[in-house]
Amino acid sequence: MTDQYAVIGHPVSHSKSPQIHQAFAAQTQQDISYEAIEAPLDGFKSTIERLVSEGYKGCNVTVPFKFEAFQLCKQLSGRASAAHAVNTLLFRDGQILGDNTDGAGLLADIEQNLHCKLLFKKVLLMGAGGAAHGVIWQLFNAGASIVVANRNVDKAQQMVAEFAPYGTVFASSYEALAGKKFDVIINATSSSLADELPPLPEGLFAPESLAYDMMYGRQTPFLKFAAAQGATRLADGLGMLVEQAAEAFCKWREVRPDTAPVIARLRE
Ligand code: NDP
Repeated sequence: MTDQYAVIGHPVSHSKSPQIHQAFAAQTQQDISYEAIEAPLDGFKSTIERLVSEGYKGCNVTVPFKFEAFQLCKQLSGRASAAHAVNTLLFRDGQILGDNTDGAGLLADIEQNLHCKLLFKKVLLMGAGGAAHGVIWQLFNAGASIVVANRNVDKAQQMVAEFAPYGTVFASSYEALAGKKFDVIINATSSSLADELPPLPEGLFAPESLAYDMMYGRQTPFLKFAAAQGATRLADGLGMLVEQAAEAFCKWREVRPDTAPVIARLRE
């Protein structure tokens, strides 16, 4: 019998997850279905309860429900506990289990696809929302030292306080970054959605620095700024999207799909 999966968000019609998981299923010969389901903003819990009662095996969770998904879980992986956010649910014996694969997805894209090892690297993580929370744990695990910059500095400080036990991390305003240089600068804000640039000072990039925007599918103001500042290594978040999906697929199906052909097809 076909096992059912879905991605739940609001809005969700733009999601590439159905296309990605269907490609993984074809490649690994898994008999699954995968659809996009828009939950009402006040109806995430009831949507999940419906899926569990209908026998779905799991789902992905996207904006704005990752924090609510965290609250719903009976059991959490270590990385989901650290992130306080969940993007992957497994339904097993009537229980809801939660994981967060965003950080693993980002790390696989940066270290494996882009060949940029993070051990001892100075990383600037911009943003203190769900995406930044989801990836910071994995950046620590890779051995990076991290500065978190956010428009609302209180949120950056709160995030740093949560994660300080795990590694070297500092909070900063954008202005206070002036005069510093970073090996990797990650845009985990939603500024690119509005075609805006976080208020970054000049001079943060060395020529070999990697500028990574989690947004994908367009040339963002951040990547344009990085190029104008002399950065030669630029990446969007499409690889992360496919890699986090592969990690979720692997949790559900216990088989790891090959991501390279899926990334290449989506880039076409
Ligand atoms: P949230 O709404 O949780 O957080 C938004 C963050 O962006 C906050 O830190 C906010 O700062 C900051 N921000 C918004 N606008 C601006 C601006 N103009 N200048 C500076 N900072 C700004 O969103 P998420 O964290 O969930 O998502 C962030 C982005 O990451 C989205 O674009 C999403 O598409 C992308 N993403 C990509 C993934 C992938 O697989 N490629 C996976 C997950 C997310 P403040 O607190 O000051 O308001």
